[in-house]
Amino acid sequence: MILTPEKLDRDVRRDGADFLIIGSGAAGSVLAYHLAKAGKKVVVLEKGHYYPPEAMRQRELFMSQLISPNTFQPTSGKHTRVAILQGECYGGGTVACDGVTWDLPATVLLDWHRLGLKGYSPENPEIGGIFAELREQLEVNTVPDTHHNPNNQLLKIACERVGLEVHSLDRNVRFCMRCGFCAQGCNYGVKNDSAQTFLKWANELGADVYTDCEVLRIVPGRPEGFTVEAAITAKPKKLGRQERVSGRPAVFQTRRVIVSAGAIGSPRLLLKSGIQARGNAGNRFTLHPTGFVHGLFPDQIIDAFYGINNSVECTHFAYVNRRRSYYDPEIHGFFLEASFSQPWGIANILPGAGPTHLELMHNLRHLGGIQINCKSDNCGRVTLKEMGYDLSAADNRRLIFGTRLAAELLFRVGAAKVWTCIFPEPLLSPQELGKIEKVGYAHKQALLHTGHPFGGCTMGPDPETSVVNEHCECHDTPGLYVCDASVFPSTIGVNPYLSIMMVARRTAKAILAQG
Ligand SMILES: Cc1cc2nc3c(=O)[nH]c(=O)nc-3n(C[C@H](O)[C@H](O)[C@H](O)COP(=O)(O)OP(=O)(O)OC[C@H]3O[C@@H](n4cnc5c(N)ncnc54)[C@H](O)[C@@H]3O)c2cc1C
Repeated sequence: MILTPEKLDRDVRRDGADFLIIGSGAAGSVLAYHLAKAGKKVVVLEKGHYYPPEAMRQRELFMSQLISPNTFQPTSGKHTRVAILQGECYGGGTVACDGVTWDLPATVLLDWHRLGLKGYSPENPEIGGIFAELREQLEVNTVPDTHHNPNNQLLKIACERVGLEVHSLDRNVRFCMRCGFCAQGCNYGVKNDSAQTFLKWANELGADVYTDCEVLRIVPGRPEGFTVEAAITAKPKKLGRQERVSGRPAVFQTRRVIVSAGAIGSPRLLLKSGIQARGNAGNRFTLHPTGFVHGLFPDQIIDAFYGINNSVECTHFAYVNRRRSYYDPEIHGFFLEASFSQPWGIANILPGAGPTHLELMHNLRHLGGIQINCKSDNCGRVTLKEMGYDLSAADNRRLIFGTRLAAELLFRVGAAKVWTCIFPEPLLSPQELGKIEKVGYAHKQALLHTGHPFGGCTMGPDPETSVVNEHCECHDTPGLYVCDASVFPSTIGVNPYLSIMMVARRTAKAILAQG
């Protein structure tokens, strides 16, 4: 049952759940379904609100406030600022997700295996089996060539012209209406996000999901079990920012707790609960820093905000291709995605201010965009106040190489001017590409973004350097699990939601095997 605040007429006290799952996103939803399917009593606590598809009206500002009140939270670092986007609703990030679907690449599995995570090996058939199962459940299919909007076609044509590897993406959408509002939640209910799939199935199997229920603290019981303290807030105001005022108290007693509150929420919840995990909680926080390049096509209407935003990707220099002879780890390790969003989102991404920015916004219908997603090799630390992160010198070089390439591709297909996200002035010809190297990304004016944060509660065999073991159970707190993007011991260099679900599926199996 979905328990929204309107359905509760008194403070909540609830005992007896076998599992209490905190967070209903990519990981939490998969865990809820599999544990409920095995006959366990499952309760999910979700800080965000519940929006049925019909409430996901195609009004960008309205939906961005409802889905991501934390949109564009900046990281803090010495010389880098990355704005973080995260879902916060029933279904978590999967509801705001564009649906781009990737399995965890063998190159990354090999890295994880070398870190001592024995089961995470390209040779382990269990992993391939889980991905196949997830793809079937989520009806993942490849976008047909006829469905690319003009912006995606530009990237495809440009890459084909210069002989770069480029392909149509896989997405978890049953019958896409190509409206361009994926990130605002699917109004047609055809995107197979967690709300439409795992949470729905978990509900049918008897799991309860409390929405607008923010967990404040986890108190490990002595000798066993846990008390979880939360606050249930009233329905958000219709057009305002979600207000988190005087919440109604809620207290839950449970045998086991799974924290699936995302790469920032999970380490913060452990820290708030005084669970330091030998100083590891919050450590090794990382992300895919993403830069943007936009080209102006004065004689063409691109209307990049209509249709599927991201349906074409260039993986020529991506980490998945690390073993290729041309791959240079000092400058490669990024993928290019045709990318755009609705006007408010784009206004946040375009460079400049005042008249420079206005000129770009006036030309919105004539702009094409490419994003450069970098597989960072650096990490920082999440604390209660900050999300510390800086680019490494190699990340800076990768982003510079990727930005130069993206700008070159836009010029190739006829852009008259190209804007990067590192300085407000446009590049007027390919001869000016050298300016990108001169400025680079290691300064706070560079407009970097990410929807892919990782780490903070990393998995590993050693309790001195990691928070959870390979089965996502805390080394020092039996019965307490953390399972979501926060356990990833590295960035992965591809879109992550399916890999997070794979880790959750493995965790559910391991938990059920324990009995
Ligand atoms: C705009 C956007 C587009 C994206 N597009 C793609 C894409 O195309 N492909 C892809 O693979 N990935 C995409 N992603 C990334 C993907 O959505 C995330 O990587 C994934 O959802 C993370 O899963 P998770 O389980 O770690 O956390 P989440 O899915 O973020 O779930 C965490 C949940 O925990 C809740 N929570 C946090 N703190 C608390 C608390 N204290 N109490 C109760 N609940 C709490 C949050 O509200 C949230 O719902 C996108 C992300 C965004 C924001």
